[in-house]
Amino acid sequence: MFSKKKSSIPASRQPVAVVGAGVAGLAAAARLAIAGHPVTVFEASASFGGKMHQFDLAGPAGPYRFDAGPSLFTLPGLVDDIFRLAHRDPRDYLRYERLDPITQYFFADGTRLTAWADSPRFAQEIEQKLGVPAAQVEQFLARSGRAYNATAGTFLHKSLHRAGTYLSTDTLKAMAALPTLGLTGTMHARHEQAFGQDARLVQLFDRYATYNGSDPYQAPATLSLIPHLEHGLGAYYPEGGIYAIASSLHRLGTEFGVQYRFNEPVREIVAAGGHVTAVRTDQDIYDFGLVVSNMDVVPTYRRLLPTHPAPERTLGQPRSSSALIFYWGIAHKFAELDVHNIFFSSDYRAEFRAIFEDKTVADDVTVYVNITSKKEPADAPPGHENWFVMVNVPHDQGQDWNTLTQRTRQVVLARLHQALGVDVEPLIASEKTWTPPGIAADTSSFGGALYGSSSNNALAAFLRHPNFSGRLDGLYFCGGSVHPGGGIPLCLLSAKIVAELIG
Ligand SMILES: Cc1cc2nc3c(=O)[nH]c(=O)nc-3n(C[C@H](O)[C@H](O)[C@H](O)COP(=O)(O)OP(=O)(O)OC[C@H]3O[C@@H](n4cnc5c(N)ncnc54)[C@H](O)[C@@H]3O)c2cc1C
Repeated sequence: MFSKKKSSIPASRQPVAVVGAGVAGLAAAARLAIAGHPVTVFEASASFGGKMHQFDLAGPAGPYRFDAGPSLFTLPGLVDDIFRLAHRDPRDYLRYERLDPITQYFFADGTRLTAWADSPRFAQEIEQKLGVPAAQVEQFLARSGRAYNATAGTFLHKSLHRAGTYLSTDTLKAMAALPTLGLTGTMHARHEQAFGQDARLVQLFDRYATYNGSDPYQAPATLSLIPHLEHGLGAYYPEGGIYAIASSLHRLGTEFGVQYRFNEPVREIVAAGGHVTAVRTDQDIYDFGLVVSNMDVVPTYRRLLPTHPAPERTLGQPRSSSALIFYWGIAHKFAELDVHNIFFSSDYRAEFRAIFEDKTVADDVTVYVNITSKKEPADAPPGHENWFVMVNVPHDQGQDWNTLTQRTRQVVLARLHQALGVDVEPLIASEKTWTPPGIAADTSSFGGALYGSSSNNALAAFLRHPNFSGRLDGLYFCGGSVHPGGGIPLCLLSAKIVAELIG
């Protein structure tokens, strides 16, 4: 048992338990340890990373390395900040390069488009391939940048659940800016308004709703600032793959004395007198006056705090989409593909209706293929590629995933055949799948949702669970299911907010 001795320990030195070693848990642990707290991370799995774990898939020609979950890395400075906080050189821990091109797009009508990192070049490509004037694209991207600059400081970097946030002049400016930036209505309506003459370009920008598991036909226009992350600030590739982000944070935490207890799931957060007092695992009860849960907020309440009242309205918010992922070792190299490749469906509206209304998978789906061996040849045997093939699907609500997976696999293969002119199926040398129930089982994410709750209404940002408990002193939350939301950058920001709240 750890000794709490709360009264004699200065606040900045109080021990903290972190439940979960996902990217937000790792970042929170490192930040708190740097601040001087003794930190213990309890992780249910055998290692760290959560959705950001990696694995090797054996194949006849040799192993393929895969990043299991995230593949796109934006705002790398948020990782660097943690190393700088520790007075370390970020490049000693994590190296990354800006991607150019960012994505190869394949539209249903056969049009191919390259998303160059340089905005004027990307706009020129759009003018050439889609016939939409470059100036119109540049104007849209510039506006997306202004919207990001006006709002990110308030909506992403601070707790939205502390009165102080609303009293700052920055916040008042951000609120006032929304209507002038044309950010009313839905994201799709905003894109229709900007590019109504070309449905393909509307589809391209609508896709950014999937970056937080939302539906462009419902999500607010404020989400149309997401393209700025890629086209204004850059999409990056970390050396060693996305998993290198988790490893770098784990290493920093270790250097600052963080204790990691793997294969030790927390079974209960113990509280008394309105304050957390301990965490219970199968091994022991450990006294802690400060607990940070990086576990999805729904199972945190349902499983770890079953006798405490839960914020039902918050927990009942609609979940984000999930994913069906096929990890394929491919015995061929495709010169026309890059690290990020999108094969659009012919009916985006039907695809999102299937996900968010019918809770199923459409007959025609958009396919995302990520190939890290384009950057890291060692991720696949010579002459091979490691394909992470992902389709957006609803979160698990008891659907027949065996049938849906088999059907979707055929749809994916047909779409790839149509776009590439090659039958990919005989090239699959090795295969593994991850389904929404699998994601839920492996990471405890409610329904296997990738990004916690969806952003399908204008108030979603305010309805996400805060980074602290309003009922139990000493209980904090970080990760994709709480404020400011899912995805690597927002998870890192949740860790920053928690460390600041505790500090
Ligand atoms: C297929 C897929 C694709 C994605 N693509 C992208 C992308 O391209 N870009 C991007 O930015 N984001 C992407 N995301 C989202 C991103 O991966 C997540 O938002 C982020 O990794 C979530 O991190 P987290 O800190 O919330 O914790 P998680 O990764 O959810 O980890 C939580 C950890 O807590 C542990 N845990 C749970 N319960 C307990 C318990 N009781 N005791 C101890 N430990 C416990 C789990 O084992 C797990 O390790 C993707 C996700 C997936 C799955």
